[in-house]
Formats: sequence, structure tokens, C-alpha cells
Amino acid sequence: MEEHVRMQTACDFLLTNAHVLTMDDAFTVHASGAIAIDGAEIRAVGSIESQFAAREIVDCKGRVVMPGLVNAHTHAPMTLLRGLADDLRLDVWLMGYMIPVEREFVRPDFVALGTKLACAEMIRSGTTCFADMYYFEESVAEAAAAAGLRAMCAQTVLRFPSPDATSYEDALARARDFIARWKGHELIVPAVAPHAPYTCTAEIFRSCAELACEFDVPVHTHLSETSLEVEQSRREHGMPVVPWVKKQRLFDARVLAAHCVHVDEGEIRTLREAGAGIAHNPTSNLKLGSGVAPVVKMLELGVALGIGTDGTASNNDLDMFEEVRLAALLAKGISGDPTALPARQALAMATRIGAQAMHCGSITGSLEPGKRADLIVVDVDQLHNVPRFARDPHSVYAQLVYAAKSSDVVDVMCNGRWLMRDRRLVTLDENELRLAALDVARRVDRFLVHREQSVLQKLIAIGGATEEESFEVQIKARVASAELVMEALTGEEITVIRSVHYRQYDTYFFFDDPGQGRLRYREDTALDEQNRVSNVRSRLTLTGLSHEAAFGSVLLFRSRFLAPATHSPRFYREYFKPQREREIEKDRRRWLVGYRGAQFYVHLDRLLKPDSGGYFLEVKSRTWSRRDAQDKAAIIVELVERLGARGDQIVAEDYVELK
Ligand SMILES: [Zn+2]
Repeated sequence: MEEHVRMQTACDFLLTNAHVLTMDDAFTVHASGAIAIDGAEIRAVGSIESQFAAREIVDCKGRVVMPGLVNAHTHAPMTLLRGLADDLRLDVWLMGYMIPVEREFVRPDFVALGTKLACAEMIRSGTTCFADMYYFEESVAEAAAAAGLRAMCAQTVLRFPSPDATSYEDALARARDFIARWKGHELIVPAVAPHAPYTCTAEIFRSCAELACEFDVPVHTHLSETSLEVEQSRREHGMPVVPWVKKQRLFDARVLAAHCVHVDEGEIRTLREAGAGIAHNPTSNLKLGSGVAPVVKMLELGVALGIGTDGTASNNDLDMFEEVRLAALLAKGISGDPTALPARQALAMATRIGAQAMHCGSITGSLEPGKRADLIVVDVDQLHNVPRFARDPHSVYAQLVYAAKSSDVVDVMCNGRWLMRDRRLVTLDENELRLAALDVARRVDRFLVHREQSVLQKLIAIGGATEEESFEVQIKARVASAELVMEALTGEEITVIRSVHYRQYDTYFFFDDPGQGRLRYREDTALDEQNRVSNVRSRLTLTGLSHEAAFGSVLLFRSRFLAPATHSPRFYREYFKPQREREIEKDRRRWLVGYRGAQFYVHLDRLLKPDSGGYFLEVKSRTWSRRDAQDKAAIIVELVERLGARGDQIVAEDYVELK
């Protein structure tokens, strides 16, 4: 009788006695199984122990072995900005804090350090694959690859100047260069990231999609994060966000769309038809008050729906265990249905389906022969995991989602390489990262403390403030009736060059320290002959800084800072935090007149709020020469009298200070 000889295959690692969750399509579980790993690949999974002769055998008794978690949307370098500004509205948070600080600090070394810090945290909490979007994305790719993690790294393109590009063309060229050099890397998939519909033009979306198609790489973007974004899209383009980006041919490329909080069923279908993946970011959406994505609907319609933490500046961590739990709980809470998004499905979103959403489902996301060895070993013997029941094989999913913590992760392997063993990081030095991060925080603090001291600095930080220094002659007077002024304007010594009629809404912000000046948000609504609104214009002015000089009742010199008001008064209120504010509304008629060889503006204002019952006359002229101003100062007093205001009606104070 011939003896049965079983040949053993050589491999690098053999993980034995493990509770293996393969997370494959059939959700195969091996209550006591093994995994053979050779090189970067998984060779076999199941009762295969005896078939392999491994270089190293790892006994996983009492432990779960499962695929590494997939963080489908983050901004790794922003980990250096964790806790910088919280409990703010999205626009104030982004435009008021993140973007100004990024403009000042984000350089390749900042990006590299932030990414290393993020990678250390991700490895500790069991993540082996992440989708990133940031500036200097090459530094993200380098740091992630050195840390040994798998990542889709997308270079940001937007319509404003950014820390790494002065224009969108620059950013696009940077993306092209990055993609060309990193395509084919064993851990990194380079990609392009048109940031969001509210920060990109149609042309940017089109160019990014073309670039992605040319190199066959994915596009990573933010879509429909807030209801405001959707309203804006409807107003400007007459359609919600998803059809609009579709019109720009975005879906010619393979898309990973973060958020999709405010999408309707038709839009979800469009995303599915396009083969796009969605990254659900429950913590970030809750923290920024954006809402809750319709995940139950998305899953029902069969979209590849992954889970992401978003950047740590809006989360504030990269813990996928927490994110999966929240996703499952939130779906139940919102739908009122405890059977919605069961633990097994939630865990699939954080592994296999997340990898599909990132367009790398063929190589990672589940433990199957041929796939890369991206896996984690979880200690399920910790007190908070005890006891365990064997009756229902699915109970292991519930245990991992509802009871386990990221700190239960003991070992992490990515691409066949150990990144953490017995809770010790192999590829990164935690203490070094901690010290370097504290140093960056000190520098950012100094920058913000300096900025917060000055209203002007804060105005400059949000962009576009230009100083205007001028000599201005200006007189204000109370007048009893409008008719007298109008009649005087028809007199032959005064020539009316042009006139306009509008409604002016001013919001003044005052600060305890008068040396800060006062900030005025002005909105003009021009009225046509029939008193219909013909044009709306808004701007922001900071006045009252120290170099402003009055000469009797004539204001002679002033310096002011002007900025286009691109945000709402609400934004400025939350950003500048004034101690006091006042709203002034007036009906203004404005004439440009010629008088004794000089030109002046004549304003006739009727105060609507506060209603003082009277009219105010304001005559002014601005010039850039002191000499000219002095000449006009003599004429202006005469002009004011000719317009019917007596000397005793002249007021020194501004409307704003009226009681
Ligand atoms: Zn994001």
C-alpha cells in the first residue's frame, strides 16, 4: 500500500487558529481557520494549515482575522489641524480657519508630517487602505508608501489659488505630473480631485475627468455635502449637483464621491449607472451639521457605498471602528428601523464594498486567494468583548461593530508586510511624530493668536482686502425736506452729471476696542424708474482705523480697507464675533454734480431703519491729492448751503451713531 504523501507549499506567513472573517461575497467565516501569505499575496484561506510550510507561523487563538479597514474618504495631512477650530458652521470653519491656515502653513514637509501622523493613527486602528485628497499629494503618496499603507492619493484642483498652485491650470498640471510618475505603484493609486462643485467651475470638472480618462485613474471629489450647495446649484445651473457634474462628463471617469448627503433617488441611480462609488462620512456630516446621507436607499439601489472618516479637522479622528458603528446606529435612528444597516453590512461597507467604491475592489477588501494580504488581527478576548456566543455565526459581526474598539487591533499587515505587531508600530516612530506635531501646533497657535487680535488681520486672512487711502471731503447735514434739495439741484450753477436711486442696507459691526475700527457690510439694491430692483451689490469696508483725520466738520483724510463681500452677513458675524451691531436701512438718491469746476457726490438719504423721520444730506468728494482736497474743502461748505442746509444743521456724527 502506497503511503499518502502530502506536498507542502512554501509561504512566508501562516496565520493559524484564527476566527477568520473573509468578508467575501458569500461572507464566508472560518471559526478556526488559517491564512497562508506569500509575498504580497494571500495564497489560501480556510482549513489549509497542513498544506503550507511557512517561514513564520502566527498563532491567532482568541483573535479575529479580517480584512484591513478601508477609509474611503479622508484628508490625511489635515491630521496636523485636528482640534484647531470646532463647533463652527462649514463656511466659517473652511473659509475662516482651514483655508487661511493652510495658505500659511501647507508645504510639502507639513503634508509629509501630517500624513505620517495620520498613517500611525490609521495603522493603530486597523486601517490598511485609504482614499485621500489634498495639496502636494506627492508628499502624501511618499509618506503613505513609506508607512506601508495602500492609498488612492488625489491631487486637489480648485478655482482659487491654493497652497500648491496659483491657478487651476497649475493645479491640473501638477495632477498630471503626479499621476504620470506614480501610476503603476504597488501601493499608491494616483488620482485627480476636483474639490467640489462650489469650489470648481464646469471647465475644471471637465478637464479633471479628461485627465483621469487619459491615464485611466479615478476621480475623487465632494458632492452634495450641504443643502446650501444643492440650493446654489439649482439657482445657478437650474439642476441639483449630480446631473450638473454629469453634464460636465465627470462620469466618463471612475468617480469616488464623498458625502452625497443631499441626493434624491434619481441622483443615486445616476451614480450607480455611472459605476461611481460613494463615501459615507457620518461623523463629519453630523459634526458640521450637514445632515445624514440616505444610506439605506443607496444600499437598496446597489451603489458601492464605503465609509470614510473625512479629515480629522472635521471628525476629529481616523477611527474606522467608531465610524462603522456610527454608520450602523445612525441608519437605524434616522429610519426608525432597527433592522436597517445590520452589523455585517456595515462591516462590508468598511472593507470589501469600500474597496469597490475606491475602485480597488479587485485587489483588496476581502481575504481571498489572489488578493493582496491586507489584514488585521483583532483581540476579541478583552473584557468589553466578553462573552461570545456561538449559536449565531453572525454574532461575530455584531461583536466587532457594536462592542470592539480600535485599540483591540493587535497586528496589521498590508501588502504582505507587517505594519504593527503586538501593538507596536513597525514603520513609524510615534514619539518623534508626537513631538514634531506639537511643534507645528505651537506655530499655528502663534499665527492665529496674532490674527485674532486684529479685525484687519482677520479681514486679510479671508482674502481680498485692499487698502484705500484717500483724501475725502465730506459734510453731513439734517435737512427738513427733500424738495428743497431737489429744487436746488435744478439751479443753474449746479450741473447734474448722472443720478441713481437705490436702497442701501448696512450692517455695522462694532468692537470693544475702538482702535479696531468698525466693519460695515453693505448691500445696495439699485432701483429703476418704477422702483423695481435692477441690481444687487455687496461689499465689506473696515473704517475708523487710527489714520483718519477730521478737520472741523469736514473729513479730510481716511484710510479704509475694502473687500468684496462674498459671504453672508451671518458668516461675518460668526467669523468676526463683534461685541455690538447695528442695522441701518436707507433709501438713497445719489447725484454726481459739477459745481465751480469740481465734482461732488450728493446723497439724499431717507432713513428707514431706524426711522428718524427726516432726511440727511451728504456731500462728498474723494481725491488722491491733499492739495485738491484742501481746494474742495472750501467749495463744499458753500455747496451744502446752496443745497438748502444751514450751518446749524450740519452734523458731525454718523447715522450709525444716531440714537
Ligand atoms: Zn472631505
